[in-house]
Amino acid sequence: MIIGSHVNFGVNQLLGSTEQALSYGANTFMFYTGAPQNTIRKEIDMNLTNEALNLMINKGIDINKVICHAPYIINLGNKEKPEAWDFSVNFLKREIDRIEKLHVKYMVLHPGNYLKQEVSVALDNIVEGLNKILEHNDKVMILLETMAGKGTECGRSMDEIKYIIDHVIKNDSVGVCLDTCHLNDSGVDIANFDSYLEDFNQKIGIEKIKCVHVNDSKNELGSHKDRHENIGLGTIGFDNLMNVINNEKLKDVPKILETPYVGDKAPYKYEIAMIKNNTFNSHLIEDITKEI
Ligand code: FE
Ligand code: FE
Ligand code: ZN
Repeated sequence: MIIGSHVNFGVNQLLGSTEQALSYGANTFMFYTGAPQNTIRKEIDMNLTNEALNLMINKGIDINKVICHAPYIINLGNKEKPEAWDFSVNFLKREIDRIEKLHVKYMVLHPGNYLKQEVSVALDNIVEGLNKILEHNDKVMILLETMAGKGTECGRSMDEIKYIIDHVIKNDSVGVCLDTCHLNDSGVDIANFDSYLEDFNQKIGIEKIKCVHVNDSKNELGSHKDRHENIGLGTIGFDNLMNVINNEKLKDVPKILETPYVGDKAPYKYEIAMIKNNTFNSHLIEDITKEI
């Protein structure tokens, strides 16, 4: 089982992220290279990076399974303000170069928002943006995240994801990140995950799935809300999420928790332990809250 969570990328950069992941009992992790809601980024420190890579080797974390997430304010879908679209494209180009320095292979991206345009126009803008971004880099793969369909999000259906992949020129460098909360909120019943995967395999190809965000959902199937819940406490439920985690076809795909903090406490150590035990912990919230 390759399991981890979202972690910070603070002053100690990749080394801090690795140490945090290890403290949760994880064997992989996902990070933003700065605050997810802005695009201020520091230089990558190669000493810290090398220390982190050595620590990973010693502790059995495979850097090839580590995930970076692009900031969510980036929008490749809308070109009404051309300078904002150009900024997004150029930022992502630089971001890919930054994570290449970290030896990280995957960057998860929210495809974009269509805002006041037609969805089809937005999808073509996303394709054009990805073509520019991927032009000069063969090392990093961009993973389009399946979205909940909140507001004007693109990527809320398999067809939208497929359209983007089919139209990008270097589409060997484009993969998919499934998010269980988003799938549920977009109308995919995780209780029938096997049939979703079968459908996915026919339309897109299961080998394109390089990451799974494992989150429970606070809302009903098809609610288009996107509010994550702790594992086993939402509308998807523990058993359905365990079926995704243990799915034989996704055995080598990293599973990343993006569940909410409980007060100021990260839930990941407790959720990872519960998942490894394969038994729902009905005292999960109490256990997290008790931690000093
Ligand atoms: Fe995301
Ligand atoms: Fe996600
Ligand atoms: Zn989400």
